[in-house]
Amino acid sequence: MYADSIGWNFDNTYARLPDDFFAPAKPAAVKAPKVVLLNHRLAGELGLDLRPFHPDSAAAVFAGQELPPGSQPIAQAYAGHQFGGFTMLGDGRAILLGEHRTPSGQLFDIQFKGSGPTLYSRRGDGRAGLGPMLREYIISEAMAALGIPTTRSLAVVTTGEAVFRAQVQRGAVLTRVAASHLRVGTFQYAAARRNEANLRTLADYAIARHYPEFASATDKYLAFLRAVADRQAALIAKWMGVGFVHGVMNTDNVSIAGETIDYGPCAFMNTYDPATVFSSIDHSGRYALANQPGITQWNLARLAESLLTLIADDENKSVELASEVLNEFPAVYQRYWLAGMRAKLGLQTEEADDEELVNGLLSWMHAGKADFTGTFRDLGSPELLIGERYQSSAFQTWHAKWTERLAREGDPSAAFARMNTVNPAYIPRNKFVEEALAAAERDDLAPLHELLAVLADPFTVRPEWAKYQIATDDRGYQTFCGT
Ligand code: AMP
Ligand code: MG
Repeated sequence: MYADSIGWNFDNTYARLPDDFFAPAKPAAVKAPKVVLLNHRLAGELGLDLRPFHPDSAAAVFAGQELPPGSQPIAQAYAGHQFGGFTMLGDGRAILLGEHRTPSGQLFDIQFKGSGPTLYSRRGDGRAGLGPMLREYIISEAMAALGIPTTRSLAVVTTGEAVFRAQVQRGAVLTRVAASHLRVGTFQYAAARRNEANLRTLADYAIARHYPEFASATDKYLAFLRAVADRQAALIAKWMGVGFVHGVMNTDNVSIAGETIDYGPCAFMNTYDPATVFSSIDHSGRYALANQPGITQWNLARLAESLLTLIADDENKSVELASEVLNEFPAVYQRYWLAGMRAKLGLQTEEADDEELVNGLLSWMHAGKADFTGTFRDLGSPELLIGERYQSSAFQTWHAKWTERLAREGDPSAAFARMNTVNPAYIPRNKFVEEALAAAERDDLAPLHELLAVLADPFTVRPEWAKYQIATDDRGYQTFCGT
């Protein structure tokens, strides 16, 4: 059997948590599963080999028609603040098969997205459309290649069935790979259920899985909160460094492991603007680019609240300790952000005026509607600073300051070389993502494959990929949630 032979090594650690945390689930039978994408590179990293098998067998496995040995399909329970409102939720269109243990001993969740209804589907159909699943595949794999912690995409298959949304879509299942699917919302769920023993079991599980270094510390729950905050700060700083707008930073979409998760309405910014929003439902700009650090702090406050009964016996003491961690967040974030921006400007040393230097560039970019990715790339290749806007006195003044600053770093050409390893030439620009999805809809996978190849190697400029570097006009570009 195909599922037996590709190298799966399943454990079911999450399913050994108390029953309250999940419900058994079964991937729905589908009419005609067909492979669209298999991620052989990721499979290799996981110790799996998808190559020697017939596509029909792979389709059956990744549509959930033939379950891997040792898997135990469940839907996870969680809660979440969605745009600020609290709701009890759960996997409504996702099924966790369990955790695959890689040859080097790492544990990864293997999850199907779009494989039919679960106990938590409410009025939803549990299905997913091909476009949104390919979109998640494209963007999550781009994030991975950019060195940003993220869930990964192992496969996309179509089901041969229709999914009914605003428009009829082809049904699809994405196989998502994650360090885990533990979320801030998982802890909110546990706290809301008011079962202290279960909450503690969950926290101990999360610590053992993601933060084993302080499993036996006396203040381990506070240390856990601080560590999650630290990983989130690092993650959001990375998003800001590439102009990634997540779009739906609800607490059910905040990973305890610090990975980017849930690629719904997310998109990459072209023209630099702190107010950038793409999601059609984010009317108030709650999740706009520049709000992402602040919203993260808000989301972490929801995690802190959920952990209060564990942090100290005395509630006031707990609040005091947790507040300290939350209040540190802006400074922690700022450090990560500044370190990232220094690297983007080729700086390896720290000087007091660096933040002003960075902000000077950003203000100029904002005022001049400059392309974020393109500008940083041009800075690393001075021969590219030829466009008309680079001749403006505002830019020249900034550039003179930066040049002076760079001179104190040693050889400028070494700085430019460093910059070109951190400033991507290629991001998933919305125009190309949309074109690839539209072509895939017509069964033409060539643009999708080319885009994936470009995004898998985002720092190496190739002449034949020139068009992917060109900034596109995003005015009015909208993305959609849960489609
Ligand atoms: P998301 O916007 O993808 O983070 O989803 C928020 C919640 O809605 C999660 O609990 C999902 O499982 C659920 N959900 C989204 N789409 C569907 C669907 N088509 N059927 C059932 N549940 C869904
Ligand atoms: Mg979600």
